[in-house]
Amino acid sequence: MTTTTAASRLCLACGMCCNGVLFRDVELQPGDDADALKKLGLPVRSVRRGDGVIAKAPQPCAALCEDNRCRIYEDRPTRCRQFECLLLTAVVSGEVEADAAMKTIRQARLRADKVLRLLRQSGDADEHRPLSQRFNRTRRRFEGGGFDDDAVEAFADLTLAVHSLNLLLSAKFYSGD
Ligand code: SF4
Repeated sequence: MTTTTAASRLCLACGMCCNGVLFRDVELQPGDDADALKKLGLPVRSVRRGDGVIAKAPQPCAALCEDNRCRIYEDRPTRCRQFECLLLTAVVSGEVEADAAMKTIRQARLRADKVLRLLRQSGDADEHRPLSQRFNRTRRRFEGGGFDDDAVEAFADLTLAVHSLNLLLSAKFYSGD
């Protein structure tokens, strides 16, 4: 299967490399035009790294549509053009059947949805932040103590759900940091 054919089926059912589940942001590369991307609606911001400054667009991405299409596909940043997850690569190489990959995507989306639901239940409804940031913030809040038994139980469920999601993501989608 070609990358284009596989991507048109899998990526439109997934969206997790753009919606804040896999990544916190998209780091711009040399050649990316930050001003042009800002004009297209990406809230690019500059952050210090070591002695230099880098530009990033936060996730969930402002260009991601409801149907998982990229609103600025033709003009998307370099990293977005380059990234192919492990699952897509495995389908393109013939190592994994497309139907099996779709099943894995459904499973991951269900796990991500569970994490999102438990985050809301644990008091974090900030849907515009990446999932890992929301979980870390919630964890720090709970480490401060002062919660009743129901809240602590919801947080325990959330911790397990995040672990279960991360196991699947690192095994099937992206093994990087
Ligand atoms: S610019 Fe497009 S491809 Fe890149 S993260 Fe945003 S929605 Fe995804």
